[in-house]
Amino acid sequence: MSTISVIEPATEEVMAEVSEAGAEDVDAAVSRAKAAFPAWRAMGPADRSKLLHALADALTDKHEELSVLEARNAGKPIANARGEIGMVAECFRYYAGGVERLTGKTIPVAGGVDMTFREPMGVIGMITPWNFPLVIASWKVAPALAAANTIVLKPAALTPLTAIELEKIALDAGLPEGVLNVVPGPGSVCGQRLVEHPDVAKIAFTGSTEVGAGIARGAAGTIKRVTLELGGKSANVVFADADIEQAARSAPFAVFDNSGQDCCARSRIMVERPALDDFLAALKETVEAMKVGDPLDETTVMGPLISAGHRETVASFVPDDAPVAIRGSAPGGRGYWFPPTVLSPVSNDDRAAREEIFGPVAAVIPFEGEDEAVRLANDTIYGLSGSIWTRDGAKALRMARAIDTGVLSINSNSSVRVSTPFGGFKQSGMGRELGPDAMEHYTEVKNVYYATEGS
Ligand code: NAP
Ligand code: MG
Repeated sequence: MSTISVIEPATEEVMAEVSEAGAEDVDAAVSRAKAAFPAWRAMGPADRSKLLHALADALTDKHEELSVLEARNAGKPIANARGEIGMVAECFRYYAGGVERLTGKTIPVAGGVDMTFREPMGVIGMITPWNFPLVIASWKVAPALAAANTIVLKPAALTPLTAIELEKIALDAGLPEGVLNVVPGPGSVCGQRLVEHPDVAKIAFTGSTEVGAGIARGAAGTIKRVTLELGGKSANVVFADADIEQAARSAPFAVFDNSGQDCCARSRIMVERPALDDFLAALKETVEAMKVGDPLDETTVMGPLISAGHRETVASFVPDDAPVAIRGSAPGGRGYWFPPTVLSPVSNDDRAAREEIFGPVAAVIPFEGEDEAVRLANDTIYGLSGSIWTRDGAKALRMARAIDTGVLSINSNSSVRVSTPFGGFKQSGMGRELGPDAMEHYTEVKNVYYATEGS
């Protein structure tokens, strides 16, 4: 049997060997999920809700263990990993509370009573990336289970460890066998098999726009439902009338958190010209003070990149003649380190402003006035997140309405809450996760008409 050697990016050492799933293991997992579906669907909502609460409790009990595993495997600072695992438990709790609120409608019609039902789809295939392994899995698994589906989850081969734990924890918490199945294996084999499998009703995917497009094509063959959470190149728009100090102090964390391996990274920092010098001065101080190093050190704010190959890709965005304005520190020696780097000034037409770098490289793009801000912010194939910094409330709201993006913050760089919808415009994806409506993405609407006045 072949195995996956799971690497710790901060040390380049193998931290675990995991048996690698192949296409036949995906088929077996789909069969188990299909067999488990009728009983899972028939379970009373209150009982299903209790099981999801039990799973949330179990995740809370294992909080530290899972946080350390995620920090080591994904190379993320332990403080961030703790936040993420906390969100995983919160996500299960939120959708545990949703089970009994997934309701249909009654619709006035002539001659009878008309009602809609939100029916589960059956077996859902899930394919997730390596940057926020368990968090992104939970955004899919929790609402899909709450809506009474069963699941085959394929985590990224680079970071399968917490998903494997999740399967065990779910069984221990009382979830019936076959309801949640994890198949760690390569995307080109296991992911593709899920996409093509005739017994899989839907694919929920998070990853790159390129792979997402292939999944949408593959899913078309069996008319599978698809939701896609894809890449981003989001704008952090700072007007001269903003609190420049605050905007500049927080901007690095909106790009360099998770070493920039964040679909929400606000990697185009757009600054109104009159504020540019002050902004860059405060930015420099903050970036140079960032502690990059051992993910398990409590004071670390940025870890390594995920792999050597990815580091090469990131480095290609900083050629020798790049306009490097600020460069932070990074350890030498083993580990896939890359210093936080700010390029300035950058034109929105430059490669560093057009492509998702997915690493700690930010581009500062000067602009003049509101119209140019809207034009530049929207001049991208992506539309996932973004921020607007200004003290003028009406301008902030005009901008918020004009920018084509799924998630925006005003005077803040936050993107994600369990209770609010998350997803992208344009090539950043389709469908929404989280928030009160996410369960609906794991259901089909059924309309039933009952004739009461004869047929
Ligand atoms: P990726 O290369 O697209 O991979 C994502 C997942 O798809 C992995 O599990 C991968 O498996 C699998 N996969 C690869 N090829 C496949 C194929 N032909 N068929 C089916 N599945 C396949 O993305 P990544 O490099 O892991 O993550 C980075 C990307 O994810 C970035 O573009 C980022 O913006 C995006 N992302 C988006 C969001 C969001 O919510 N919008 C959140 C996080 C990340 P293996 O890797 O195991 O081969
Ligand atoms: Mg990839």
